[in-house]
Parts: sequence; C-alpha cells; structure tokens
Amino acid sequence: MPRPVRFNIHPILADTKDSISMVDKMPEGYGGEGFFAAKLSDVVGLARKNSMWPLPFATSCCGIEFMATMGSHYDLGRFGAERLGFSPRQCDLLMVMGTIAKKMGPIVKQVYLQMAEPRWVMAVGACACSGGIFDTYSVLQGIDQVVPVDVYVPGCPPRPEGILDGFMKIQDLVGQESLRRRNGDRYKELLGSYGIQ
Ligand code: SF4
Repeated sequence: MPRPVRFNIHPILADTKDSISMVDKMPEGYGGEGFFAAKLSDVVGLARKNSMWPLPFATSCCGIEFMATMGSHYDLGRFGAERLGFSPRQCDLLMVMGTIAKKMGPIVKQVYLQMAEPRWVMAVGACACSGGIFDTYSVLQGIDQVVPVDVYVPGCPPRPEGILDGFMKIQDLVGQESLRRRNGDRYKELLGSYGIQ
C-alpha cells in the first residue's frame, strides 16, 4: 500500500534573482540613505534573540518532541538556535522538557545557577509547567518551584509548533530586555524570592 503523501513533493522554487533580502524587523531607529542609527540596547537585543544557545534539559517524552523540533521539518535552527549546548556555562536558554522528580529539583537549580547572565528559562510541557498528570509525592509540581520561568508551553506533549511558539515568545522577551538584565530591581527581587543572590 503506498504511503500517503504528507508534504509537498513538488515545491515551487523561490525566485531570488534580483532580490535583496532584508531582516523583517530592524530595531527602532532612524535610517537614511547609506546609514542607520539605533540604540545600542536594541541592536544587542536583536543579536541576542537571533543567536540563542539552548540547553535542552530533557528527561522524558517532551524531549522527543523537542528532537522533532530540531529536525529538518520544523528546524529550530531557522531561528538562530541550532547550536544546542550541554554545558550550562555557555548557554543562555534553559529548556526543561519532561517530568522532573523532586530529587531532580536541586539539579535543575544547580544547572540554572551555573548559567551565566543573561539567561532565560522555558518550561516545555505540562510536567515541567505543573507536574502534569503526575500529581504524586515524588514529582515536582512545576519547575517554577525551584527556578524562575519566563515562558510556559502547555500540552502533553506540546507539538513542535507549540515549542516553536514558546521559543518565539522567548525571543520577544530577549529582544526587549535591558543590556544588563541582572541589574533590574524586579529581576533582583525575583531571584531573591528563590534565594538566589
Ligand atoms: S507533559 Fe506529557 S508528554 Fe511531556 S513529559 Fe509529561 S507526560 Fe510526557
């Protein structure tokens, strides 16, 4: 029996001849012929949001969805995030995907602490967001009990489109953050509530 065709096997090739590609969203600024002026923080935000280095902390099924998200069909690399890192020292986006047992909570926090500023956290899937279906004595009921979370992606598991949507929400945040995120009063207060200096 032939397999159903799921994707367009005769794609129309883009006509790129004579075209000049421009970034869709330049930072706010002032441009004229041959020059463009913008705030340094906007330029840094644009660079940061398009060159995220995610650290995938995948413990169970949601991690498999993430693998699909990194695959050629969904391709997180299109967003400038194809360089996954497994060393917290080099990464700026902690992506927690899967069930986190209470025993694992201190490890998640340790990984977070080892990441340098600026850093962001994404909770992917119901388990990371809230414990999911595992309302038991052994499962952490949401990673925001141990580390601050910037974006929650719902679903059990979320589809790759959901993960991409969450990632774009992170990009929006990153693009608008101040240069020295850590120095903001609200951020210091937030970290203080987790006992982080
Ligand atoms: S949210 Fe669902 S799919 Fe994701 S790790 Fe938990 S049980 Fe698995």
